[in-house]
Amino acid sequence: MNTGKFFLALGVFLLPFHATAGEEVNVYSYRQPFLVQPLFDVFTEQTGIKVNTVFARQGLVERLKQEGANSPADVILTVDISRLAESAEAGVTQAVRSRKLRRNIPQAYRDPRRHWFGLTTRGRIIVASRERVQPGEITRYEDLALPKWRGRICTRSGKHIYMVALTASAIARHGRDGARRWLAGLKNNLARKPQGNDRAQVKAIRDGVCDVAVINTYYMGKMLADPKQVSWAESVFMIFPNQAGRGVHVNVSGMAMTRSAPNRANALRLMEFLSGDAAQQIYAEQNHEYPVKRSTPRSGLVASWGEFKADDLALARIAELRGEASRLADEVGYDN
Ligand code: FE
Repeated sequence: MNTGKFFLALGVFLLPFHATAGEEVNVYSYRQPFLVQPLFDVFTEQTGIKVNTVFARQGLVERLKQEGANSPADVILTVDISRLAESAEAGVTQAVRSRKLRRNIPQAYRDPRRHWFGLTTRGRIIVASRERVQPGEITRYEDLALPKWRGRICTRSGKHIYMVALTASAIARHGRDGARRWLAGLKNNLARKPQGNDRAQVKAIRDGVCDVAVINTYYMGKMLADPKQVSWAESVFMIFPNQAGRGVHVNVSGMAMTRSAPNRANALRLMEFLSGDAAQQIYAEQNHEYPVKRSTPRSGLVASWGEFKADDLALARIAELRGEASRLADEVGYDN
């Protein structure tokens, strides 16, 4: 069926897209236009397939549920394993079989059931004050719970998906009780009630509120690129934790094909394109992230942060443990 005419008939579903007679693919994206538009432009140039995009900060999965079989969306782009798993669990995605995706994306970063695929990775690292913390003083996530850091740590909410995934990785390594003790110890060391985003924690270090924080790697790049935030970034040094053990906890941005995808073949082409070298390099560089494809070079800045060992725990396992991790945050009163 001509999908353009189909949407015209439905009227309301047409609104976000410029339906054309030619080939197209429709993307619902939680990722911002500046990140994905450059990629879509290259894709269209190479394939002649037009990419129509709807951007939103939230609610796209709910929208897909409401639209059901009539949804115009083919591909979802989002960040964090929680959101990817949520989409799959909501029943709005479908399994995708592709040798290219399997070859380009390491196993730990894709769904064993083939519903979601990582595209970029980011480490959740420790940063510490250049003035008040010595190199080597803190080297592991476990150290965050040591009494010596009492009143010296800042983090965002323990219920935020980035923190929940980190706690889930602790459950995977230390069991529920071990992870609970760790989280309670970390909570005990907080300089203030959890608030703000990752960058706000670095600002708090600059302002002398705390000495240590936990943030995603790409925020260092974002702060350095923002004249108002350079001094925040420059007040800290980066610590890639647990290098003698499990490695750095990593998460992904990723993609899924919608269950109702009207342009399935084009959606697959777009997904495969996004996992390839050219797209990987552009996508990772735009947001100071790591390409998920191992052979793709990192941006100059990201490469300057050095090599590190990443935790090889499958993200699917993090997804399974995220409910329990979120409950632990409640149990230890992390945000209180
Ligand atoms: Fe983020």
